[in-house]
Amino acid sequence: MNKRDRKTNMKKDQFNIPEGMIYLDGNSLGPLPVAASARVQKTLQDEWGKLLIKGWNEAGWMQQPSGVGDRVGALIGAPKGTVVLGDTLSIKVYQALAAALNMNPDRRIVLSDSGNFPTDLYMAEGLLDTIDKGHELKTVASQDIESALNEDVAVLMLTHVDYRSGRMYDMERLTAKAQSFGIVVIWDLAHSAGAMPVKIEKSNAEFAVGCTYKYLNGGPGAPAFIYVRSDLTDTVQPALSGWLGHSAPFAFEQKYRAGAGIERMRVGTPPIIQLASLEAALDIWDGVDLNDIRERSIALSELFIKEVEARCPQLKLASPRDPKERGSQVSFAFEEGYAVVQALIARDVVGDFRAPNIMRFGFTPLFIDEDYVLKAVQILEDIMTQSVWDNPQFKKRSAVT
Ligand SMILES: *Cc1c(COP(=O)(O)O)cnc(C)c1O
Repeated sequence: MNKRDRKTNMKKDQFNIPEGMIYLDGNSLGPLPVAASARVQKTLQDEWGKLLIKGWNEAGWMQQPSGVGDRVGALIGAPKGTVVLGDTLSIKVYQALAAALNMNPDRRIVLSDSGNFPTDLYMAEGLLDTIDKGHELKTVASQDIESALNEDVAVLMLTHVDYRSGRMYDMERLTAKAQSFGIVVIWDLAHSAGAMPVKIEKSNAEFAVGCTYKYLNGGPGAPAFIYVRSDLTDTVQPALSGWLGHSAPFAFEQKYRAGAGIERMRVGTPPIIQLASLEAALDIWDGVDLNDIRERSIALSELFIKEVEARCPQLKLASPRDPKERGSQVSFAFEEGYAVVQALIARDVVGDFRAPNIMRFGFTPLFIDEDYVLKAVQILEDIMTQSVWDNPQFKKRSAVT
């Protein structure tokens, strides 16, 4: 066996994926780890069930947001004590941006790209309205970000890998350039954590945020994470000054005092049951080299692009052609992309659709291999050549696309 064969389906047996399903949507919601059910059951029965409130001390619930945070940190190149879990990514974006603005109080511009995931932009809008000091959220096309950097910009807030196209920024270079203008930098790693090696500490960015239910497979509603550069963890000002970020939550003091280090980025009671499923998911990553994941992800996505372009000429590649500029997903544009995705799902090939015309396919080497890619393309080719998608049943929109 050559090197590639040995790595095929690196960890498929550790996931519960329905028989026959080709799941190309691990970039949106990772599959259920086999061990997660027993792990959650244990938390329910042995911890909540038997210990009740004693669980906070005896089962270590209170330390989990930073303990499990260190495990996530290891996957994004963050040292211990710089990552904490909790809330959802939207909330973590708000926290990071509020703290970043405090570090640049004389500047008024938050710069992002117009293709950023809407919630990141919405949260920024809401925060700037609340602050009400004349800040402006400026968005430009991704290719114009670099030329929009200047000394008026307070914060550069970008998502490393674009959720629609998979386009990936050069994190280290852009961070350095922004910081040369005195700009504070926030990276959203939603489509990067678990998809490729990320070296957040090396990038020198002040903040990063991300979610754990995409490539990390923590399950729907799994908590988000926030990273604060180690020299800043004791000085950042938390805008969401909840009691569990307080220096002494159980002193029940009248006034807020920010807690030590990264703990101050906690807000309220952590989601213990979700943390249990996330822990089971993180066990799968033990011993996985993210460089191998990246190499396999590129091999799988290159194969997919080559086959789709050869067999489905109606579809237009909507992702960068150079794999070095792409995350772990491939998008194709097609006017009736929604219907095509529904027709694929009806045949157990699961990708997803993003308005207006983008069909997205995620390549997650933990459980996808070349055979799956080739089968998926075969089914896509059938659907395109026989116009299977052109059927009213595939055109009816659901709430979640
Ligand atoms: C998935 C994703 C989110 C989701 O935010 P939640 O608050 O967890 O729902 C936010 N931002 C980006 C860039 C994403 O990809």
